[in-house]
Amino acid sequence: MIVLSIIEIILLIGVFIWIYILYQNKKEKSMRKARIVLISMTILIVITQFYIHKTILNKKEIIPASQVDTVAPIIVLNGEKEVKFRQNTRYIEPGYTATDDQDGNITDKVKVEREKVADDKYDLRYSVTDSAGNKSEVQTRTVIVEKNLEKDKSSSSTANKAGVIYLTFDDGPSLDITPQVLDILKDEDIKATFFVLNYGETKEYLINRIVNEGHTIGIHGFSHEYQEIYVSDEAYMNNITRLQEKIKATTGITTKYTRFPGGSSNTISKKYSLGIMTRLTQRLLEEGYKYYDWNVSVEDAGSSKTKEEVYNTYVSQLSKSRANIVLMHDFTKNNKTLDALRDMIHYGKENGYTFEKIDDDTPMITHGVNN
Ligand SMILES: [Zn+2]
Repeated sequence: MIVLSIIEIILLIGVFIWIYILYQNKKEKSMRKARIVLISMTILIVITQFYIHKTILNKKEIIPASQVDTVAPIIVLNGEKEVKFRQNTRYIEPGYTATDDQDGNITDKVKVEREKVADDKYDLRYSVTDSAGNKSEVQTRTVIVEKNLEKDKSSSSTANKAGVIYLTFDDGPSLDITPQVLDILKDEDIKATFFVLNYGETKEYLINRIVNEGHTIGIHGFSHEYQEIYVSDEAYMNNITRLQEKIKATTGITTKYTRFPGGSSNTISKKYSLGIMTRLTQRLLEEGYKYYDWNVSVEDAGSSKTKEEVYNTYVSQLSKSRANIVLMHDFTKNNKTLDALRDMIHYGKENGYTFEKIDDDTPMITHGVNN
């Protein structure tokens, strides 16, 4: 454009000089010709300048090629490409950062996918897409789960635990039932397990009593609402870790024992997320948690309406040839179980059973997964 203008200016100056020379030489006839040339040149210049400006304005609407983001973002993994961690311990993610030439730091947009490659191995696949839609190269980290051989040995030698009764209390603590349950346990000198829900300040002392009196505290969940906790894997894991952190703040203990609301065999979760129990049962173990179902249920949240029914249901399901994990509830107003508890303990003691709390030697009695 600039080149064109310079040529035009030179031509114009040329014509002016020509007209000036003709004027000096008083050549009237030639001067008329020169004026026509001058006018037509001016018109021509105006037209070409108008055309040039129009095309430049159009071009400005298109973003110059140099500004179009065609460069994919980059993900950098912290730590090793291959991470090993022991079974029953928590996997600690070494982290990653993602940067893009236009968007800057887009680490929070990174998607992490898990892909199982073997029984003891899975891949974490990290990818990110920038705002212009450019996808980064996928970075993969392999996570190897190392078996805890010592633990396997000790649990296989004691795995049977025949004739042991594990009393477990779900859905507490409650201000009316739990203190009395604890009193009876103390009086009978036996230890039990409490899978608790979220608790308010007034119940904190019960959480501390459970721990201080030597029982096992386990996680049932911050919430028990199926439609909240089984909507996604993350929702469930948050429901556990949230309560785990709260229990830690109250007691100083980090518990890894859990029980699924509805049990691991529940089918209600199908309504919210297909296959979630299959994924969660695997994930809990990979992240160092344990989960326990039951093989004796006193049906105190179901068909048992009296203390006699609770007692009889319990007695009829006990077996000397295996470990017995007994499902009971210490939720509020559950007096039938509270009233049956002493007789239940006496029955066990008188018939050669022993009572233990859940610990690492307890066989992980689980139902089959149905979702
Ligand atoms: Zn429950």
